[in-house]
Amino acid sequence: SLRTRFAPSPTGMFHVGGARSALFNWALAQQSSEGRMVLRIEDTDAARNRPEWTEGIVRALAWLGIGEDAPHFEGPYFQSAYADKHRETAQELYKNGRAYYCDCTREQVQERRDNPNLGYDGHCRERGLEPGPGRALRFRVPDGGPTVVEDRIRGRVEFEHSAIEDFVIARADGSPLFVLANVVDDVEMGINQVVRGEEHLSNTPKQQLLWEALGLTPPVWAHLPVIVNEQRKKLSKRRDKVALESYQEEGYLAEAMVNYLMLLGWAPGDDREIMPWSEMVPLFRIEDVNSSSAFFDEKKLRAFNGEYIRALSAEEFAERCRPWLTGDAAPWDPADYDPEVFAAVAPLAQSRVAVLSEIVPNVDFLFLPEPVEDEKSWAKAMKPGVGAEMLEAALSRFADPGLPWTAEDLKTATEETGATLGLKLGKAQAPVRVAVTGRTVGLPLFESLELLGRERVRARLEAALA
Ligand code: GLU
Repeated sequence: SLRTRFAPSPTGMFHVGGARSALFNWALAQQSSEGRMVLRIEDTDAARNRPEWTEGIVRALAWLGIGEDAPHFEGPYFQSAYADKHRETAQELYKNGRAYYCDCTREQVQERRDNPNLGYDGHCRERGLEPGPGRALRFRVPDGGPTVVEDRIRGRVEFEHSAIEDFVIARADGSPLFVLANVVDDVEMGINQVVRGEEHLSNTPKQQLLWEALGLTPPVWAHLPVIVNEQRKKLSKRRDKVALESYQEEGYLAEAMVNYLMLLGWAPGDDREIMPWSEMVPLFRIEDVNSSSAFFDEKKLRAFNGEYIRALSAEEFAERCRPWLTGDAAPWDPADYDPEVFAAVAPLAQSRVAVLSEIVPNVDFLFLPEPVEDEKSWAKAMKPGVGAEMLEAALSRFADPGLPWTAEDLKTATEETGATLGLKLGKAQAPVRVAVTGRTVGLPLFESLELLGRERVRARLEAALA
C-alpha cells in the first residue's frame, strides 16, 4: 500500500513550502484505503536543530488537520532514533564493496584537480583502506552509464555517472550524511512514494543508487517546484512572510490556508479554486503538478480567506474571533468586553474582515473607554467649516429625548441635520463616525450608534468638540 512521508528538518519556523509538501503527501496517502503519510522529523543536525522548532512543526501540522488522530497519518518518528541503523547500513555497504574508506583531505583533492567543480577524483577507490581515524566512507558510484530518475512531475531525468562523484555517506566519526540517513529511514518506514522540494532533485540519483546497492526497489519520486514571491524570487525567510504560524496569528483560517496551499502548482480543473479538502483529495494527481515555479500570491490568499470567513455561520464566526477578543492581545480591559454586544455586531463585521485579527479595529470603539486617536482620520473627517459644525448640530439633535435611539431614526436624524448645513448624508456622517469610533471607515454607523447608546455617543461628541 502507498506510504508517503513528510520529512522536515527542525531548523527554523515551519515554512509554507513545507506545509504544501505535507499536504500533497497527505492527499496521496488518503487516496488509497491503507495509504499512510509518515511524519519523520530529521533531527540529526545537532548544531541547527532545536526542540521548539520540532514543536512548531507538530503544532502547525495539527492546525492544518494533520494531528495525532488524523486519518492516514503516522508519527512523528525521529531520525535520531535510527542512528544505529544508519551506521549498520554504512557498514553493510562497506562490507559488500559498495563503499570504501578515504583519508584524503579537501586540500589534497583540490591539489590533484585543476577544476574544483569536478569533485572527488576516486583516489582511494582501490587503496583498500581499513576503517580508522580521519577516514570517511565514500559510495562507489558505478563507472558507466547514467542513473535515470523517473520523476512523476518532471518526467525522465538522466544523471551521467561521470558527473556524480564518489560521495561521502559517513564521516570519519561514523556519523551518516543526509543522503544515507534519509534513505535508511525511508527503507525502515517502508516508504514507496517520495514527494519533496526540487532542491533535493540533485540528491535523488545518489539516493537511487543507494537503494539499488541495498538490493531494494527505490520509491517513486516527485519533486515539487519552488515557490516564488511577487518578484519571482524564491520565498525566503529574510524577505518574505513564510512562517505558517504568522498566518495563523493574523487570523487566516486553517481551511483557507489548506485550500490555497494546494493550489501552489496544482489546480483541480474546471476553473474551480475554492474547494474543501475532502473534494480536493480525490481530484489530486501528482502528475498534474506544474514543474515551473509557483507564485505565492498573498493578496489572493487574503481574498480566499475573506471568502472562507464569509461562508462561516454567524456563531462560528464569533467563535473563531474569540482569541482576538478575549486574549491577551485584545487592546481593551477584559471587564469592558461584552460578548452580547459583540454578537450583535458580528454579522455586520463578518463581511468586512479578510483576516480575523481585523475584527479588533472594527469593534474596538465598543469596548474601549474612548475611541482610538488617529490624527490622519481626524484631519480627513473634520474639515474646517464642516466637521465641528456637524458635530455641534448632531449633538443637539441626538440630545432630543423625543428621538428614538434606533439605527433607522439616527440615520434620518443625521440626514436632516446634515441638510441644514448643506451636507449630503455621506459628508454629514463622516465627522460623527470619527468622533465616535476614531476611524473614517468601519461598521455601518447607525447600527454602531444604536449599540453604543445615547450616553456614550453624547460623551464622545462632546469630547471631540472640547
Ligand atoms: N529533511 C529534508 C529537508 O528538510 C527533507 C528530505 C526529504 O524530504 O527527502 O529538506
